[in-house]
Amino acid sequence: MIPRLYVAEHLQKNARFQADERAAHYLVNVLRRGSGDPVLLFNGRDGEYRGRIAEAQKRRLTLEAVEQTRAQDSEPDLWLCFAPLKKDAVDFLVEKGTELGVARFQPVLTQHSASNRINQSRLTTVATEAAEQSERLTVPEVLEPISLEALRTGWPKDRHLLVCAEAGDAAPIGQALSALTSDVRLPHKYAVLIGPEGGFQDDELDRLKKLPFVTPVGLGPRILRAETAALAALSAFQAILGDGAKRPPRP
Ligand code: SAH
Repeated sequence: MIPRLYVAEHLQKNARFQADERAAHYLVNVLRRGSGDPVLLFNGRDGEYRGRIAEAQKRRLTLEAVEQTRAQDSEPDLWLCFAPLKKDAVDFLVEKGTELGVARFQPVLTQHSASNRINQSRLTTVATEAAEQSERLTVPEVLEPISLEALRTGWPKDRHLLVCAEAGDAAPIGQALSALTSDVRLPHKYAVLIGPEGGFQDDELDRLKKLPFVTPVGLGPRILRAETAALAALSAFQAILGDGAKRPPRP
């Protein structure tokens, strides 16, 4: 298996740079790789390069880009907004959301949120490793939490928000998405909002449903855990409106 690494540096033919701590540890200590061994490199901007370990000293590891294997391609501009959950559930949600093509994770504080903080640096590492494994060409960003009020008032005009509503009337997500595609007036950027384990407060849901950029959606008759609901909504979105029809880049 050729290790695939996200790097910060600019990538071009024969570019050489020092691997960061995380990459050096992974390549040398975990995978026991050394000088001359191949790697795949991407940085979110220059596509993907086949490269190799040029030098492997004690703590210094030099990587070299050899040739471009994939051009930078557009990826779905899909946001996942979620109420902070317990640590393991948030890690799971960020890892799976990254595999399912999320571009931005936006934690949202609701009345029943399990906590009002997230560990942004840990979740960024989770997202980075999931992007490396799933052969993405970008790493999603993980933002600091905002209030539901700030989400409502600061929402960008060119993005539609699918609110996963476990209660009240909400169109099944499949129908809702098909209806949205036929409504050409609507923007082509989307986001999904998932509530906390305790669910949305009635007044939270009522206020959300009144917003012009919101479509409440249902995910079937069962009450899903928040992290399950996120995956169900993201999978439905990618299949119907996203990049579900594309195939992995390497045969
Ligand atoms: N505690 C609540 C459920 C919360 S589930 C109760 O028992 O009623 C956590 C979140 O997952 C919800 O806020 C909603 O966003 C989403 N969700 C779970 N099941 C869903 C469903 N069947 N349809 C739409 N959204 C759902």
